[in-house]
Formats: sequence, structure tokens, C-alpha cells
Amino acid sequence: MFKLSCRFAGRSLSGINSSRNLQGLSVVRGSNIANRATSISVVAFNTPPTLLPLSLSPRHLHQRCCYHTYANTITRAITTATAATDNTTPNRRYYTTKPAKMPVDLTAYYNQVDALEDAFIDRLRKAVKIPSVSAEPERRPDVVKMADFLKSELETLGASVEYYYPGEQSPGLDLPPILLGRYGNDPAKRTILVYGHYDVQPAFKEDGWGTDPFDLSVDEKGRMFGRGSTDDKGPVLGWLNVIEAHQKVGLELPVNLLMCFEGMEESGSEGLEELIKKEAKGFYKDTDAVCISDNYWLGTTKPCLTYGLRGCSYYQVTVSGPGQDLHSGVYGGAVTEPMVDLTNIMTTLVDNTGKLLIDGIYDQVAPLTEAEKIRYQSIDFSMETFYEALGSETTCTDDAQETLMRRWRFPSLSLHGIEGAYSAPGAKTVIPAKVIGKFSIRTVPNMELPKVTELVTAHVNKVVKSLKTNNTVEVGLIHDGKWWVADPDHWNFRAASRATEQVWGVKPDLTREGGSIPITLTFEEETGKNVLLLPMGTSTDQPHSINEKLDKKNYIQGTKLLGSYLHFVAEEKME
Ligand SMILES: [Zn+2]
Repeated sequence: MFKLSCRFAGRSLSGINSSRNLQGLSVVRGSNIANRATSISVVAFNTPPTLLPLSLSPRHLHQRCCYHTYANTITRAITTATAATDNTTPNRRYYTTKPAKMPVDLTAYYNQVDALEDAFIDRLRKAVKIPSVSAEPERRPDVVKMADFLKSELETLGASVEYYYPGEQSPGLDLPPILLGRYGNDPAKRTILVYGHYDVQPAFKEDGWGTDPFDLSVDEKGRMFGRGSTDDKGPVLGWLNVIEAHQKVGLELPVNLLMCFEGMEESGSEGLEELIKKEAKGFYKDTDAVCISDNYWLGTTKPCLTYGLRGCSYYQVTVSGPGQDLHSGVYGGAVTEPMVDLTNIMTTLVDNTGKLLIDGIYDQVAPLTEAEKIRYQSIDFSMETFYEALGSETTCTDDAQETLMRRWRFPSLSLHGIEGAYSAPGAKTVIPAKVIGKFSIRTVPNMELPKVTELVTAHVNKVVKSLKTNNTVEVGLIHDGKWWVADPDHWNFRAASRATEQVWGVKPDLTREGGSIPITLTFEEETGKNVLLLPMGTSTDQPHSINEKLDKKNYIQGTKLLGSYLHFVAEEKME
């Protein structure tokens, strides 16, 4: 491994290269810096680092055209200095500004992952081919087939796999098995539990897919389109790829790997919570830390680690009066209309700046700390890309950091709809007899869910009282899931951060997400261990939507990252 540094105007850029053919130099060229360089040096990374003999005429340093001269000179210097080195695979490059310390030299592993690229894509192709849609009962055999595929791949790699059958979803419809896997059982090693899901969202070509959703297709930009490519088959197979690349290169996995792969994630993870509760002190009892790869980068260029998710408490308010729907020409003006009561209630919940109007709700929100504020400052996020994602500029604030905080660390209340209300086009003169308003609150630390429901109920009852209505109003909780936040300074996160820095050449953003992955909290509560969300894909992957994709680069670098993470997490100092 070599480090190529190029100094210019007081700044320095460097590329790390694992081979002699010096593709690292293209970092210099690619960033259009070569023509302004004032010095160039090549350092062999082997211990101790050695400066390789290199002579470049200053004239060359200022001419943009002489990239080839650089390349030839430096390649010659490296070849001479490392004639004894046998690492000749011309390969990928890793850019970095400050290379992270390697716990062990993973160059060979990274090269192996690159060498296996086609095989790994083929593995993903086989997985995408199986339409394991958990929401469609008629596809249930395919969901099971996908579990069997994973099981057999894992067993071929030498892992041991058991199935847990959570029972029936409905009479005659079995839930697919949850796969419990183990690779390695060395008490001297740490044990990492990884979670993923092998089921996918429904997909139909007619919905607007450019290609057959169950036939992985790779375009010229390296985008691999297919249902489940990014959510979550790519990341799940990433763990298998890690094992395979280690075996092929003769490198021992530095940890014991426990796996939990479920087939009902897209349909409410039925059965999973019971399994985790049951096995946290059983099959998963050795777990030292948990890693979940089932989310995405905040943008497209910078990797992230996710340490928080909001919870969701979903409510409905039912207002009923007349025995049946009425005609407004006949009854209008003579009856108390349920719809009027309901809309009156709903408008008292939140204002159009996003502020919740329920008494006492903000008293439970954790205050913003200085350390937290600083974390937001370095996050790669701009309002422009947010507007693009939004399709408008109708945001509550123009401030990027405040926008992130509003999405991640403050509560929000959304009005979702009204069941029973007339919503078709046209001018129907109905007075609905019974309407049900739906709204939810995204909860954050330190909101207590029973307390939230208590405040919501008290608020609605207070409004109903002031309305003096003779309709019947009922407010109720439909479901709630708690927020989750982990310590981003925990050794599990530090290891992932170092691994990311090594593979992607940049320190990852520490992000939270506005949505919920309820099982994250279950893993934390039941194992009592730190849970890390380590995403593979980017914000443009369109999971759940048409043309879901995973970039080849993210799949391959992501596989390197998962492997690298295991090495760092095996050595990171536990506090
Ligand atoms: Zn997913």
C-alpha cells in the first residue's frame, strides 16, 4: 500500500494505492490539482513508512499535460522500491485525507472483494430473482424460497443456520422463518449480531419500472436496479460476501458473527419481537454489539452512521352523530355535523409552522445540548437538495440545520386523513354520519409514550368540551413505537467510523432519522447492547418505490466496509 501526497498552495491531498500501477495519481489529476502542485511524494505504507526515491522536475509540477510523466516516474519509483512486494493486483483506490490506522492490513481483503465483484453481483442477481414479497400471501412460498437461498449460501460458507418459525399469520398462512445464523464460535473473540431482512416490498413493472423489478439490471452508470437491491438484500448479502472474501484470501474473521435475518420486515416484522425476547439470552446471548444495515445515507456522496430514530404514536378521533349519512339539502342546518366537530378538533393539534399545540408536550423533549448542536454543523446537507427531494420550497424554515433538527430530534404532528369523509372528485352533497380523523406524533427523547397519549387525550377532551357538541367523540391510540437513540461515542460507533474513514476516505456524518425502525429498540432493550445503524445505499436508492436500485460502488465498497467494521470493532477499546 502506498500513499501518494501532492502539495499545492499549502494544502495537501493524498491518495492511497494498493498497487503499483498508481491509480492513486488520478486523485491528483481528477481533482485538477496536478497543474498547481508544488511537490509530490510517495510513501510506502508498509511499516515503517518509507519515502520512496522519486525525482520530478519542477517543470513537470506546473504543467497540466504531464500527468503521464508523473505516472511513469512514480510508477517506476514504486516498482524499484517494492520489487520484492508481491501485491501486484492492479486495483481500486482509496482516497483519504488522513488514512485511518488499520488494525490489520486489509489490503488483500479489499482486493479480494474487488476480484469477486462479478460473483457478488451474481449473488445479488439470484436473490433479486426470488420475488420474496411478504405483503402478498400468494408470494409466501417465494419468501420461504429466499430464506432457503440464504440458508444454503451461508451453509456453503460454513455458517450454521437454524430456522425459527413464528407461527401462522392467519389461518393457513405460515409466517416465513426467521434465520438464526452463526459463523465462528471462539470465546476469545467478540461477538457481533447483525440484522437484516430478506423480504421485499411489492413491485410491478406496470407501476413504472424501467426494467423487470425481479431481474437485476445494471446500467452504464453502475446502478443495479431491482426490487430488494438496496432494501435489504444487498446489505444482507454484504455479510455473506464478507465471509467469502475472507475465506478466499485466507484471513480469519476477527469476530464471531451472529445473524438474524427475517422475512416479514416489510409487513410489520411479525414474530420478530418474540424471537428476540426469547433468544436474547439464548442464541444471541454472546452478543457484544449489534449492527443493522437497513437504512441509507443522508445524501449521495457522504457515508453516515445513524444513532437515532423517532418513535411514532398514531391516533384516531372518531366523531359520530346521525344514524346514517344525510343529504345536506334536507338536513343541513338542522343537525350538528360530525365533520365540523372533527375538523375543529384537528386544527387545534398543530399550527402551520409545525408547532404542536398540545399542552405539556414540549416539557418532555430533551433540551438541545451544545455538543449536539456541534454535531449538526458538519453534516453534509443542503436546503437545495432538500427542496429537490420535496419537489417544492414549502419548508417551515430555510435553515438547513434547523430543518434536520426538526426532522430528527424534535417532535412533529401530522394530520393524515379523515375516514368516512367524502373525498372523490365532484360535488356530492352528503353529510357524513361518522368520521374518523387520523393523526400521528413523531416522538423523540425523552417523551414517555403513555404520557404523550394522556396529554393528547386530555387535549382532545378539552376541545370537545369547548365545542359543546352533542355528537359522540372518542379519541384513541392505534399504535405506538418508541423512539431510539444510541450513544454515538460508543466503541461500536467509533469502530464503524474508523472503518468508514478507511474505506470511503471520509469521516461519516452522525445522523438520526425521522422515521422508525421499531426493531432497533427491541434489539437494544433485549440484548442490553449498543446498536449501530450502518447503511450501505444512498438517498437516491428509492426503496419501496419504483426503480429501486443499489449502486455497484456502494455494494462493493459497502462489502469492504462491513468487513472492515468487523476488524475495527474487534479491536476498538471498550470503555
Ligand atoms: Zn428495509
